Amino acid sequence: MANPLMATLSGVKRLDAGLEFSWQDEPGVVLAIAELRFLCPCAHCVSEISGKRIIKREDVATDITLVDMQPVGNYAYRILFSDGHDSGIYPLKYLYKLCCEADE
Ligand SMILES: [Zn+2]
Repeated sequence: MANPLMATLSGVKRLDAGLEFSWQDEPGVVLAIAELRFLCPCAHCVSEISGKRIIKREDVATDITLVDMQPVGNYAYRILFSDGHDSGIYPLKYLYKLCCEADE
C-alpha cells in the first residue's frame, strides 16, 4: 500500500460485515465493527501511561454495531458504538494502519 503519511480516505461504506474503507484508488478494506471497537485508541481502552490495551477482546460484544461515525476536523473520525462507547477518535493514519494490517 501507499505511504501512510499520504493516505487519503476516499470513501467509507457500511456493510453487514463492518465498515469498508477505501483509500485513494486501492480496493476497499473491510474492518469488523467488533474489531474497531476492540482497537479503540481512547484513554479508556489504552493506558496513557503504559500504552497497553486495557480493554479485552471478550469485553466487546460480538454483535456490537456502529451507531454513528463523525468526522473530527479532517484528520480523524469519532466512532459511536452500540455499547455506548463514544470516546474513540480514530485518526485517519491509524485507520489506514489497521486497514494495511487487515489486508496482509
Ligand atoms: Zn475507547
